[in-house]
Amino acid sequence: MISFTEARERILSEARPLGIENCRLSDLLGRVLAQDIVSSFDIPPRDNSAMDGFAVRQADIAAASPKSPMLLEVIEDVPAGTVATRAVGQGQAIRIMTGAQIPQGANCVVPVENIKYQNSKSKIQIEISVEPGENIRRRGEDVRAGEVLIPKGARLRPQEVGLIASLGMAGTLVSEKPVVGIVSSGNEIVNPGKPLGPGQIYDANRYSLGAQAREVNAEVRDYGIVEDDLGRLAAVLQQAAAECQLILTSGGVSVGDYDLMKQALAKLGRMHFWQVAQKPGKPLAFGHIQDCPVIGLPGNPVSSMVIFEQYVRPFLLKMQGAARLFREQLTGVSQQRLTKPAGRREFLRIKAEWQDGGYQVRLTGPQGSGILTSMVRADGLMILTEEVERVDIGDRVIIELFGGGS
Ligand code: AMP
Ligand code: MG
Repeated sequence: MISFTEARERILSEARPLGIENCRLSDLLGRVLAQDIVSSFDIPPRDNSAMDGFAVRQADIAAASPKSPMLLEVIEDVPAGTVATRAVGQGQAIRIMTGAQIPQGANCVVPVENIKYQNSKSKIQIEISVEPGENIRRRGEDVRAGEVLIPKGARLRPQEVGLIASLGMAGTLVSEKPVVGIVSSGNEIVNPGKPLGPGQIYDANRYSLGAQAREVNAEVRDYGIVEDDLGRLAAVLQQAAAECQLILTSGGVSVGDYDLMKQALAKLGRMHFWQVAQKPGKPLAFGHIQDCPVIGLPGNPVSSMVIFEQYVRPFLLKMQGAARLFREQLTGVSQQRLTKPAGRREFLRIKAEWQDGGYQVRLTGPQGSGILTSMVRADGLMILTEEVERVDIGDRVIIELFGGGS
């Protein structure tokens, strides 16, 4: 039996970096950046107006008050997308829109709601002053030329995609997508959409694992369901190894048909069959067929998903050069009393609610590793490390939320 930490380290140490490719803006979401994003110019590129209003010389309006309003002459109107042709002189104002470049001579903007037009609109009356520089967005206040804005290895969220677009880049370098082959095994497994015979169950794993893999950018190849037949299993794995950069199998590693996957994998490559001190997911196979890494996941739908979360997700992110491999770990407060044997790590499915300044967590009902609804109801996992033997109500526990971090 090996520990979770050792098993994960050994698996992750075999993640090889993928190549890089150019990716256009509209496809960047979730991808892992393969270059630093550096701006070649300041943003904003010039001082511009933060308000719709009038660009003026502050000295002209410093003494303005409702009792003694200042009268200014409007010499130009600058709509969005255009630039003033004249400078603001003493006693003058230029009408300006939000985002428009500040004209020469002006050093503040009086918002349109603070002025009154004289009848012709060529004159305005200002009753309250603003400070020098007020309502002006300064050149470079968002981004300075030469600054690293997004480091290599970042996973791109909508805000990073927007920033890259605002730099005028049509795309950028990212890691290639890992090609992941997925195989289900078992005589009883039937593809959804077909009628179910006695003793049969629908294949959940190929779809849950495929979806988990796609969430971290995998291009998934589906190798279907393989019956418990050594020759068939070996043939499918051999083909997948030639076509993929990672193979995920599910089923056939628990006691009973353990030997079948073991025989197939041992015949084709270098494999380790581990008993890992964890629940769920005690049986775990890892190795290579030719140069292709293979992770043999347990067949129970919850186990395979949890093991994907803990091992495969970071493996795929590491292949892509991601700076962060793991979900952020947060502190939860248990609303339940729990017990477990020391010496193994447990992953429990939890609901987490923010209350009284912390995440109050409770299990999503029965935790059997075949009970997929326990995942559906869950916001994340509670992680009880090896030394923990009991958790009391109010104790702090480690949690990881699905969708949280990396
Ligand atoms: P095994 O490791 O093959 O003994 O599978 C363990 C349990 O998981 C058995 O109850 C299987 O029927 C079930 N199982 C295996 N593969 C799948 C699958 N692809 N979808 C749903 N359940 C599965
Ligand atoms: Mg089986």
